[in-house]
Amino acid sequence: MKIKQLDRYIFEIEKDGKIGMKVPGIIYADQSMLEDILNEGSANQVVNAATLPGIKKASIAMPDIHYGYGLPIGGVVATDVKEGVITPGGVGFDINCGVRLIKFDLGKDEIKTDLKDVAKHLYNNIPCGVGEGGNIKLKKKELKNVLKKGSYWAVEEGYGNENDLLNTESSGKLDEANPDIVSNKAYERGYDQLGTLGSGNHFLELGYVEEIFLEDIAKEWGLFKGQLTLLIHSGSRGLGHQICSDFLDVFEKALKKYQIDVPDKQLACAPVLSPEGQEYLAALSCAANFAWANRQILQSLAINTLADILKVKVKNLNPSLLYDVAHNIVKFEKFEIDGEEKLLAVHRKGATRSLPRGSELLPTHYKNTGQPVIIPGDMGRYSYILVGGDKAPVRSFNSACHGAGRVLSRHKAIKMAQNRNIATELKQEGIIVISRGKKTLKEEMPDAYKDVSKVVEIVDYLDIAKKVAKLKPLCVIKG
Ligand code: 5GP
Ligand code: MN
Ligand code: MN
Repeated sequence: MKIKQLDRYIFEIEKDGKIGMKVPGIIYADQSMLEDILNEGSANQVVNAATLPGIKKASIAMPDIHYGYGLPIGGVVATDVKEGVITPGGVGFDINCGVRLIKFDLGKDEIKTDLKDVAKHLYNNIPCGVGEGGNIKLKKKELKNVLKKGSYWAVEEGYGNENDLLNTESSGKLDEANPDIVSNKAYERGYDQLGTLGSGNHFLELGYVEEIFLEDIAKEWGLFKGQLTLLIHSGSRGLGHQICSDFLDVFEKALKKYQIDVPDKQLACAPVLSPEGQEYLAALSCAANFAWANRQILQSLAINTLADILKVKVKNLNPSLLYDVAHNIVKFEKFEIDGEEKLLAVHRKGATRSLPRGSELLPTHYKNTGQPVIIPGDMGRYSYILVGGDKAPVRSFNSACHGAGRVLSRHKAIKMAQNRNIATELKQEGIIVISRGKKTLKEEMPDAYKDVSKVVEIVDYLDIAKKVAKLKPLCVIKG
């Protein structure tokens, strides 16, 4: 592959007609990241995605890119709805995995309770771990309502309020959801998993605002130095995973039916407007709605637990959702392509929507600033809050990175951390972590991830998303 450096942090993989690339690849990274990306094979995945029918402008990779199923994690692919395809490999197994950030009217120094007790209490009250069920057990009829209504269901049931809906991407509900498309197997996996965190990479993290970069925006968003914050990272659990699996078979068959040639079976796809494409969309929307309801319930559980252990009223904590972003999803959004407005299917796989100020998709209260973009880093260093940048529409179909991205596979991380006690190491830094999985802390140790500061620096420089504030962890609950 031929790579050209276009700018300090922009690398283009030239379009190669022989491979069938319809557009070039664009990787936003620095030189040293690029080397890793090339060695690891995810650059090939960027090339593969450039062959998808109807892809527009470029197959794009964010600086947190790493190898994934079909499309790399950190990949953005936009296809024309009329002539293009939709692919489950461009969304991922954990449909609508995402993060939300809740801020409190409380400084971290006002916490008088031992952090260890806070962490223990959260761990005991938040169901987590592989396949772990929670306290909410639903019958099919009610689960159908969840799949249809998303966050609205959670709010109707008392797990949140109007403000939460206003501060969730797509208000926490995709209207295309059709619960009748979802398989029984997927339902089976969803009956007791609402309000559960999941395993490994998913977490709930109490932290605080350590540094502010854009004072005006931080003020407008109600952020202040030392402020207590809560990050929640979870997705659609077994239900979403099952929906993705169900459709992989459907899409493999569709390749033959529609005579589409892809270099990697994991990019199996079908025309967006085909019956297969539309059914996937209806099922994906169910999973997305489940994930939003899930994060909304986790928020409510965590806030009540926190108020309880800190011996304050929820009202006095004044919790307020800054924003909830989806980072494994496909969205239908309009962009200008060659002077013409087109409706595109924007696949964001380990990528976050990043709407700039003025975007018509923003809720009124974010129109002047742009969208809060929530970027977790790792459990030992820091995470960031950014704001959608003015160049996001032209550079990345309004998308930014979604995290730091892995540098070590889970397997390699376990091997490297063999003789280390990660919890003790983090404790020395003043961070309390509790995990459900025995291997989780090794798999998820900070060194398994890139330094998120470097990742964020790149999207900031490119004006895809600008840094607003930096968060430090205090206690972390991992699946
Ligand atoms: P993914 O959705 O790809 O599993 O992960 C999203 C991002 O979350 C990762 O790329 C990583 O940067 C970040 N992350 C993973 N674990 C933690 C954690 O415990 N705390 C924080 N703050 N970030 C994490
Ligand atoms: Mn996930
Ligand atoms: Mn995720």
